[in-house]
Amino acid sequence: MAEDCIFCKILNGDFGTEFVYENEYVAAFNDINPKAPVHVLVVPKKHVSSLNELEDKALMGELLAAVKEVAKITGLKAYKTLINTGKEAGQEVFHLHLHVLGSR
Ligand code: 5GP
Ligand code: ZN
Repeated sequence: MAEDCIFCKILNGDFGTEFVYENEYVAAFNDINPKAPVHVLVVPKKHVSSLNELEDKALMGELLAAVKEVAKITGLKAYKTLINTGKEAGQEVFHLHLHVLGSR
């Protein structure tokens, strides 16, 4: 858990956020400001600030596997998956997250 990290606080249960999906390594919750009818964020449970800081290849696999689970759970057949890395690319929250965007 990183101090002042909003996603660590969500993962810690500070806001009572409901998870769309979770397992030992990752969790997924709805984006607060959805840009599509379904907009879910998939995050590692341990704090990793961006893709550039992610070294754990097993965790990389867990994140992508969780995207597929989220798609299944939310009824998405077609969806986009987005990772912003770095402020200049639009990263606003520095806890790695994969956007899953689609319509049911
Ligand atoms: P980024 O621009 O870093 O790739 O995406 C950050 C995303 O996190 C944005 O889509 C934004 O709406 C979402 N977000 C920011 N703060 C919160 C929050 O407190 N709760 C949730 N659920 N989503 C958030
Ligand atoms: Zn964090």
